[in-house]
Amino acid sequence: MTTRKTTLIEVHDILAARVTCGRCKAVLSVPISRDGRFSTLYSCPNCDAPWLSVPGGPSVAPEVQKCVDGIKRLVDQLKNWNVVLEGRNSEPFSLTFEISDPASDAKS
Ligand SMILES: [Zn+2]
Repeated sequence: MTTRKTTLIEVHDILAARVTCGRCKAVLSVPISRDGRFSTLYSCPNCDAPWLSVPGGPSVAPEVQKCVDGIKRLVDQLKNWNVVLEGRNSEPFSLTFEISDPASDAKS
């Protein structure tokens, strides 16, 4: 017999975006529900290692910001969409995302 564990999250379960510094291990957590500005996280506030931007070079900050903004928009739109479905006597649905199993990640 083969078993497989599936770990799912709902988009509203995503509470914060977290940056962990590869150099000094400082952690910065920015709540998704607030208007966190990722465009300011160019470097670690503790050791100044580059995070979302390389000085004088490329940056991933705009893409991170778009992703976080998209999560917030999706949470709001899904709430409103379920109200639309209920108004049409349809059952609301659940949208989940499958993530890697935290237990198997811990072993590797
Ligand atoms: Zn650091």
